[in-house]
Amino acid sequence: MLKDDDYKLIETAKNIIMKNFDSDNWCHTVGASLLTKSGKIYSAVNVDANLKSVCAEHIVIGMAISDGERDFEKIVAVYGKDKQEIIPPCDYCKDMLKEYAPNIKVIMPNEIIFNLKDL
Ligand SMILES: [Zn+2]
Repeated sequence: MLKDDDYKLIETAKNIIMKNFDSDNWCHTVGASLLTKSGKIYSAVNVDANLKSVCAEHIVIGMAISDGERDFEKIVAVYGKDKQEIIPPCDYCKDMLKEYAPNIKVIMPNEIIFNLKDL
């Protein structure tokens, strides 16, 4: 059961990819939003260059860390241009989150919230 704050986080992720979706040139297809314990929301899109791709989750965690944040509450990623779908973190993201945000909650498809450690 999601709360207003969760929908706001999802909406922020949808907005960032809606604004920046580009499957032809840069392959920006995913948006992620991160809620910190201090109540700030950060959002980012993925970056794709040649064969190396960096997930939006990595970038959004990096943004928050660069801004001095260390404690994270919740994260969500969405894929798509017009009708975005919530997507689960990939294994690479799960490993990163386990190090940087072991207690984070993840909003998953079907609007279910999981603790990262249960994924
Ligand atoms: Zn990933």
